Amino acid sequence: MSTLTVQLGERSYPIHIGRGLLHRAGALLKERAVTSRSPLLIVSDEHTAKLYLATLENSLQESGYKTVSFVVKPGETSKSLAVFEQVITAAIKGGLDRHSAVIALGGGVVGDLAGFVAASFMRGVKFVQIPTTILAHDSSVGGKVGINHPLAKNMIGAFHQPELVLYDVDTLSTLPPREVSAGLAEMIKHGLIWDADFAHWCHDHAVDLLALDPAALEYGLKKGCSVKAEVVSRDERENDLRAILNLGHTIGHAIEAIAGYGEFLHGEAISIGMVGSALLGVKLGAAPSLVEETRDMLSSLRLPTSLPAHLDTDRLLEAMMHDKKFKEGSITFVVPRSIGYVEVVKDIPISDIRQVIEQLKE
Ligand code: NAD
Ligand code: MG
Repeated sequence: MSTLTVQLGERSYPIHIGRGLLHRAGALLKERAVTSRSPLLIVSDEHTAKLYLATLENSLQESGYKTVSFVVKPGETSKSLAVFEQVITAAIKGGLDRHSAVIALGGGVVGDLAGFVAASFMRGVKFVQIPTTILAHDSSVGGKVGINHPLAKNMIGAFHQPELVLYDVDTLSTLPPREVSAGLAEMIKHGLIWDADFAHWCHDHAVDLLALDPAALEYGLKKGCSVKAEVVSRDERENDLRAILNLGHTIGHAIEAIAGYGEFLHGEAISIGMVGSALLGVKLGAAPSLVEETRDMLSSLRLPTSLPAHLDTDRLLEAMMHDKKFKEGSITFVVPRSIGYVEVVKDIPISDIRQVIEQLKE
């Protein structure tokens, strides 16, 4: 097991990453002084519940914890006010009190939902994350929790740091292959924005990562979490530095907004977005090899690196204009200068973005 501490003063917390941690969950919660006098609420979705809930419940009960479980439907639609209310109802009926903890067993959806329940139930109780997707290495660090409003994603939320994160790499063995690659997109993004050696490591170990080799996953998740943790501890409330975490996301969000439902997973869309950012980087002076290098890295992780021609350029630009980063004909963009180093550049003309989108279709 490796442990990484997210340094946030009084709110610092450990992320344990390794094999077999689900079986040790009870003992690891005890170490963080989560009381067994009050019941715990475990939130999972139908997929993760079927695979891992009984193991977690047993481990917690063996350590003397009383547990209540609530299972939601898999997918983004569970990050809703209606489901939020159902989870709060389960917490009240289950007898949770101010000293209870809410545990998220699942991917980013369950993490964001359960985290928002923890942030708001009785004005805030302890929160424990047990991420079961690779993508959730991103969502389990940083303290952002929340749900969607019918008009906009992640509109209702809070900052609420967990007591601890338990990353059992054994749980990742059941992930569908597309979810694996999509999660690896955020992992290599952490290399591309901050640590060239790590980006190259992801590329060199792509075969092991795709095969869900536990040692490769443990190292990659630890490095990915540590980059995010470092950025977040320097800028907990999103003032400036934290913006670099959005590499590839401006184009990526536009792709997600206009493509048909389910055509792209988030990680797939930002993979294309990161190639777009590299094209923009070259336009602004980076070495031309940056584009091929970025494409090679992403395709080694079985991620898409170009835009399907059917996605209309004008509609993509329009979707970006709804983004708050766009004002009066120009946009703020995270631009790579080289592998491992990015800058936030203001006032990029729309005409440049239009060219990048056209190039992404070639
Ligand atoms: P997800 O939670 O929907 O999981 C993806 C799919 O994999 C689901 O069908 C799930 O049931 C299934 N699954 C999960 N673990 C599994 C396992 N071990 N084996 C088999 N199947 C499994 O999605 P995600 O990609 O983990 O997270 C996406 C969400 O995370 C989005 O809602 C996004 O907004 C959020 N997010 C939040 C932050 C943050 O900072 N809070 C950051 C990034 C993303
Ligand atoms: Mg993302």
